[in-house]
Formats: sequence, C-alpha cells, structure tokens
Amino acid sequence: MIELKTVEEIKIMKAGGKILAKTLREVAKIAQEGVTLDELDRLAEKTIREAGATPAFLGYQPTGANEAYPASICASVNEVVVHGVPSQRTLRQGDIVKIDCGVLHKGYYTDSAITVPIGEISPEVKKLLEATKKALELAINECRVGKTIGDIGYVIVDQARKHDLKPLKGLTGHGIGKELHQEPTIYNEGEKGTGLSLQEGMVLAIEPMFSVGSDEIRQLADESYATKDDSLSSHFEHTVAITRLGPEVLTK
Ligand code: MG
Ligand code: MG
Repeated sequence: MIELKTVEEIKIMKAGGKILAKTLREVAKIAQEGVTLDELDRLAEKTIREAGATPAFLGYQPTGANEAYPASICASVNEVVVHGVPSQRTLRQGDIVKIDCGVLHKGYYTDSAITVPIGEISPEVKKLLEATKKALELAINECRVGKTIGDIGYVIVDQARKHDLKPLKGLTGHGIGKELHQEPTIYNEGEKGTGLSLQEGMVLAIEPMFSVGSDEIRQLADESYATKDDSLSSHFEHTVAITRLGPEVLTK
C-alpha cells in the first residue's frame, strides 16, 4: 500500500531532510585527498546526532541482507555504485565518491545522495556527474499530480541517452516515510504516461544512477554493488513530496 502523507507529516519530513542536507554538505566539505571513508562516516553520524536526529542506515537490516548495516552513510568510490561500506580506504586525487545518507526524525525517514569529485576530474567524469544531477532535477520536475512513474523514468533515461550514459539496471528509487523503503518503486527508465499515477501526499526518493560503460551491476564481498565492467558510476538522490502546488524537495 502507498502511504500518503498529510501536510503535517511532510513538514516533519522536511525538518529531517534539512538535517540530512546539512550532513551531506558537511561531509562533502571534508571529502578530500587523504581522508578516509570512516572519517566521512564519523562526521555524518556526529552531525545527525547533534541535530537531535538518528542516522537511518546505522543498524538497518532489510530483508535478505546478511547483517545489520554498520555505518551512517554509504560511501561508494568510482566503480562502486551504492551500498559501499565506509572503511579505512583513503580518498585519492581523481576519485569520485558517492555519499548516500538517511535520517530518522520524529518517526519519519528521509534519504539523499550526492557524488563528490576529489580534486581534478576529467571532462568525461564531469559530464557524468552533471548529467546525473540534471536527470534528478528533470525527474523532480515530473513529481506532479497527474504525472506517472513512467514520466519520471522517461526523463531520467532520456537524459542518460543524450549523454551516452546508462541507468544501472536493478537499482531504483522508492517511496519513503515511516519506513526507509516503501512502495512504489521508482524506476530510472520508463515510457511517458505509463505506470502508477502520482498523487498528492506521495513522498518519493528519486535516485538516478548512471554508468559510463556497462549498465549491469555485480555484488561485492561487502554487499555493495559495482558496475560489472568497473566503469565509473554516479548517483544523486533527493526525497521529494508531491504537493498540490507541485514538487517539494525535502532534502535541500
Ligand atoms: Mg539513498
Ligand atoms: Mg534511496
């Protein structure tokens, strides 16, 4: 069942989303050459807790996972797309790191992700990041009453195609609210006007994930997902409410 949120509930989620946005900003600031993924994680946890909220990913165990998640962020470097577990790995010049984070605030979850370049990156990688960010922006603009899930997927895959990139298969966005992952599934591809109609009160985590090479993923030993051919990938995500007045980004 799809949980529709009241204006009051959306307000609470927006307060949580603000904490999450601040957390990602702070983490992005220290994401530089020589910094470890663990250091990024510690700063995220500290920022969330100091704001009076709870890191949503820490201890999270979805059905099918072998163990509870041990950190407050996912930190996925280069070919790793999502679910990278923070470690003593040090960031290096030219890396791109995807930082995905969730906040639990007053009973409601928000979810957001950014891809941060470390030092100088090539024009090709810059294009990958910009195109993924743009796809998220275009997808957010589709989050309106009367549009469909297919409309969201269409603008995402269309943006990827225009830049010779591919949305990664099997990785999707989702509804969000009293649980971190809810119905409906938000595909990063689709046909205009198809699929579920969007309604006022839906809150969706929209998250385009693009690859410069293969659109297939493989699971690594730490349960993270990398591109099958080790090509670079990027990820941007926002939690978005569908309101009478249009899309409202809750995680900015
Ligand atoms: Mg996320
Ligand atoms: Mg998500």
